[in-house]
Formats: sequence, C-alpha cells, structure tokens
Amino acid sequence: VDGIKKTFPIDSGFLGSKKSVKAVNHVSFEIKEGETFSLVGESGCGKSTTGRLVTRLLTPDEGKIWINQEEISKMNENRLREVRKQVQMVFQDPYASLNPRMKIREVVGEPLVIHTKLSAAEREKIVEEMLDVVGLNSYHADKFAHEFSGGQRQRIGIARALILKPKLIVADEPVSALDVSIQSQILNLLKDLQEEFQLTYLFISHDLSVVEHISDKIGVMYLGSLVESGPKESIFANPQHPYTKALLSSVPIPDPRAKRERIILQGDVPSPVNPPSGCLFHTRCPYSMDMCKSTVPRLREIEVGGHFVACHL
Ligand code: SF4
Ligand code: MG
Repeated sequence: VDGIKKTFPIDSGFLGSKKSVKAVNHVSFEIKEGETFSLVGESGCGKSTTGRLVTRLLTPDEGKIWINQEEISKMNENRLREVRKQVQMVFQDPYASLNPRMKIREVVGEPLVIHTKLSAAEREKIVEEMLDVVGLNSYHADKFAHEFSGGQRQRIGIARALILKPKLIVADEPVSALDVSIQSQILNLLKDLQEEFQLTYLFISHDLSVVEHISDKIGVMYLGSLVESGPKESIFANPQHPYTKALLSSVPIPDPRAKRERIILQGDVPSPVNPPSGCLFHTRCPYSMDMCKSTVPRLREIEVGGHFVACHL
C-alpha cells in the first residue's frame, strides 16, 4: 500500500457549504504473504477506511495498492471481480452481515453461488468442510443466524469469508463485540486458520492487547495518518510515539517488574474536519513543543528492521 489517500465530502449544513474529511492521509505499509499486519487506533482514525480501500470496497483518491504484484487501486470491474475472490472481509458484527432468512448453509455457500459454477452437491460438500474447519458442523447448517451466540456467528462469518479460499483477509474489529473469553477462542481460530491456509491478515482493532498475539507487524493510526509502525516486538518493547505509549499504557504487562512509561490520554480526538496544524497529536501530547504546532513530523525509520515513527522527538 503506497501513499493512499481518501477524502469524504461532508455537508456542514451551514448555507450548504461543503467541507471534507481526510479519512486516510498518505498511508503506506507492506504485508508479506502469511503475515499479520494490525492497524490500531481510536475509532475514527481511518483504520476501517484503510481496510475498505485494501478490499477495494472503496477507491483511493490517490496512491496505489498492489496485491501479488498486481495494482488494484484503479482496476476495472471485471478484473476486480476476480481479485475480490482473493480478498475477503470479516466484520465486527457478523449478525448485521448475515441474512436472517437464510439458513447457515446458504449463508456460508452464497459466495460459491456468486463466484463459481459448482453444482449444488459440490457446494454442499465444501460448505460442510468449511463449517467443520471453523468448529461448527452439519447440525448447525440448517439453523438461522439468530439461533447462534456471538462467537458462533463470528465462526459463521469466518467460514463465509474463507469459502472461496482467499489469500488476504481484512478483519475489521472481528472480536470487539465478543466477551473476553470468547475473544481468545476466535483469535486462536484465526491463527490456526492462517497456518492451515497460508492466509495473510490485515487486522483492525482499537485495542493493542487484542492484536498482541496475532500480529507480526503493527501500525498505529491517528486522525487518518500512520504515526508509528514496525515489528510487533519492537512496538511493544520500544514504543516511540507518545500516542503509541498512551495506547500501551492501558495494556496490562504480564511481568510486574517490567516498567513501561504511562501516558494517560487527555481530551478527545479532535474533529477530523478541522484537524490540528503541525503534528496531529499536539493537542493531546504531554511532550508538545512549539515546532509541533507548526511542522508536520514525517514518518522516519528509527531502527533497521522497519520501525518507523512520525514525531519530532
Ligand atoms: Fe508530541 Fe510533538 Fe511528537 Fe507530536 S511531534 S507526538 S506533539 S512531541
Ligand atoms: Mg472502524
């Protein structure tokens, strides 16, 4: 993903004047095959928009996106249909995306109807296999979505996402709606499936503790920009951006002797319609200096091995 931008027009309602929100502003990252890259940040920071750009549910205004050497950011609809089979999404609330009048076998098998010419019997077989893979069985297949718990519904959503054997899964807050005990079951399932099917994940979460065990690399977003990114170990052990430190301050440390600088976030995220000048984080940063108000800090590599941070400090 190279320098993608996405701006949404909004109607401010004041004498019909038009404003816009830079939802994603010059975001770049790379995910290797079989890896998990997690995007983390508070709600409204552009994580979901980035995910939807990568799946091409949205088209970027600027920048490029490649999947397997193929540039998808300006691809035509026909070719895009093919690419979409390779890239699937898992959503926060699977219930909202599951048709309440369809039995689970139809829900899970629907992408096969849309994208393949397989017979009903062939589809049936694949659906049963896939239900088994996610820990459900044919007993569940004839039930409806409302008959399942949140965790089971997420298993159904995952089965549906995997049925076309995609390469890349964009998982947008896939466990945020679930109880903590169920969260780890679903995270473990995603990890097992990654190994079994050599999947690549773009994982989106507001919670760093959720992505700790599943990520290879982490990117931290604030108001549409990537402020820090790097290998998971490096982000957790050596966070550099004050915003990353603040997010980490709420993550429990297993070893009580280990020390971590604690930054408690003050105030709310500024409106993305009127973002702060200079460093976007300066209105909440405990280290803010004069230059932070006027000069935008560029993302710079601070450590060989791909740890990047955008901060004047
Ligand atoms: Fe804080 Fe300045 Fe760094 Fe921004 S650039 S995070 S305001 S110290
Ligand atoms: Mg979101």
